[in-house]
Parts: sequence; structure tokens; C-alpha cells
Amino acid sequence: MAKRAYNFNPGPAALPLEVLQQAQEEFVDFQGIGMSIMEISHRSKQYEQVNDEAQSLVKELLGVPAGYQVLFLQGGASTQFAMIPMNFLPQGKAAGYVLTGSWADKAYTEAKGIGETYVAATGEAGGFRSIPAVSDIEARPGSAYVHLTSNETIAGSQFAAYPDTGSVPLIGDFSSDIMCRPVDVSKFSLLYAGAQKNLGPSGVTLVIVSDELLGQASKGVPTMLRYDTHSKTKSLYNTPPVYSVYIMNLVLKWIKGKGGLEGMEQFNRDKTKLIYDAIDGSGGFYQGLVDANSRSLMNITFALGSEELEKKFIQESEKEGFVGLKGHRDVGHMRASTYNAVPYESCKALADFMNEFRQRNG
Ligand SMILES: *Cc1c(COP(=O)(O)O)cnc(C)c1O
Repeated sequence: MAKRAYNFNPGPAALPLEVLQQAQEEFVDFQGIGMSIMEISHRSKQYEQVNDEAQSLVKELLGVPAGYQVLFLQGGASTQFAMIPMNFLPQGKAAGYVLTGSWADKAYTEAKGIGETYVAATGEAGGFRSIPAVSDIEARPGSAYVHLTSNETIAGSQFAAYPDTGSVPLIGDFSSDIMCRPVDVSKFSLLYAGAQKNLGPSGVTLVIVSDELLGQASKGVPTMLRYDTHSKTKSLYNTPPVYSVYIMNLVLKWIKGKGGLEGMEQFNRDKTKLIYDAIDGSGGFYQGLVDANSRSLMNITFALGSEELEKKFIQESEKEGFVGLKGHRDVGHMRASTYNAVPYESCKALADFMNEFRQRNG
């Protein structure tokens, strides 16, 4: 069998081995049709079945209530940063943004160029070491919406609970933690996630949007950038990223086989505990970059005492087969991304390596 790395890449990221193997089996001949899924029409019955199945699995796994649409779009989460205000931030209204780090800031910056905005809460004063308390998030009455970033991939912080914004629609960027645990979709009017961290390969973006919000969309938005274009056509208005959706469907089945989102949450808690314990039990040799109540199940960020030691850590870890542990260029230090598909064994191996490295260098 092929040698597999201990893959802690931040995105695109690890995929389940079982999924890759099934895709490999079906690669040149999908379901006996003598062609791959990439070589047939997106309107064929084979592809339609994949598209339908992926949609139903999203609904089933997340418990999406009636009155919501599940869409598979392109352009990544970054396109959502623009599409959301283009569609749902009309003149005369303002949208609130919860600032928790780099990704929230990107969404906010994009909206500022399109309409009126306000800061609904910010963790900037604390250097984004923690997520603002839910009670500190301001949803101004009459706002267009409030936007938050469920998991800050770069800082390594994650919401533990979501605010109740009353009649103001709540919108969430779940790009790096979608399906890592159960979530009450009914709290949100729209949630979105680029697939390439927790759901599959890059190329497809999952959007779940309520009919109520859809009904408020601005007129005059270009066809491809309107949500209703895609909701009316089962995301088949134009050629979809068929291979990305196909792989995502396999990942969704894999998640279901792991016990759904309850199963994923337990799995992710067990995995990350190994690494957080290695940090917390190191007597300060490793320093977590996020306060305990805001720690992420998906991106674990930590520092060592000096730049020199961090360099050594990276070099030695690479020799041992670990990949992707260098922190984002904006913050430096270390980051281990422990998305759904990262195996327990990889996390165990990393915790062991961390303990052993500390003993040698502490
Ligand atoms: C990766 C990421 C994005 C950007 O996703 P693209 O699909 O590359 O545009 C946005 N938000 C968060 C939270 C992310 O982790």
C-alpha cells in the first residue's frame, strides 16, 4: 500500500483514505459506463444521482430543516464574501460583522466595498486570542444581517456557541469546521463552506440558505452571482464542478459511516485532546496561541520558546513524515490542522513527537 504522510495541511487538506481508494477504483470506469464521471454530461442520470445524493446527505447529516436550500457553488468561500452583501445588503441597511481574525476581516473588507457595515463585536484588543462572548455580539435592530466566522483557520479559534440574533438574519462562514460537530442550522439564515478543508477537494462551495432570506435578495445582481439562479436549478444552472461534487459525496457517505456529526465530534475531540494535552502538559515549552474557551477542534496553534527552536521542530517533524505544521505566514509559529479526515493515528504520532522533542530540547 502507498505510504501516507501525517498530513496536517491547512487546506486543501487530508481526505479519507477510503474515499481516495474508492475514487481510484471508479476513476476510469464509473458504474460500468466505460467512462469516468468527468467525461459525461452533468445532465446525465449518473451525475444527477450523485448531485441528488450529495444534497440529501448534507440535509440528513446537518439536520437541515424544511424551508432551506442546499446549493453547490463555485468560486470558493471568497466569492461568498462578495455574493452575500451583493444579494442581502441593500441600500439603507447595514450589516454587522463579528471580527475574530483574518478570515472574518476578509469577509468584512469585501462587504465594506459594497454597502454599509458595522462591527458587531471584535476580538482585536486581545490579539484575537479568544472569540467574543456571545452576549457581546451586537445585532442592531433592522440590520441586513450579522456575519460570523465559525472557525478562524489561521488563528486557531472557534465559536463554542452561536449568538441568538433575533429577527436579524445570522450568516456563518463554516469553511474550516463544517460538519466537525452538530450545529443547529435553524439559528442561521445562511451558512457556507469551501469544501477543501472538511468536505472534499477544492472547487465546490456548500451554501445552505433559508427561503426567507432568499426572498429578500436584491434585484439586478448578475445571473451567476444570484442565489436563486442556483436554487431554482438544483445547482445545475451551468456546468458544475462534477469531480469535486462526486468526491464530496463520497466524503459525506464516509462521515455518515463514522456516526454522523455526533460521531465526528467525538472523534475530533479525542484527536485534538492528544495534542492539546501535549501543549498543556509541557510546562510552558509549548504555548497555545488561543485561550482555552475559544480553542479550535480543527486548527491547533502553538509556539515554542524561540524562532530557532521552531525551525528545528519543523525540520525534525518533516523528517519524521509530518506535513503542514508550519503556521500561516501572517502569524508564524505552529499550526496542526486536524480536520475530519485526519486519522487518530496521525494525531497520536504528533503528540508523541511533541513530547519526545520537548524531552530532548526542554
Ligand atoms: C479557507 C477559508 C476561506 C477561503 O476559502 P476559499 O474557498 O479558498 O475561497 C474562507 N473562510 C475560511 C474560514 C477559511 O478557512
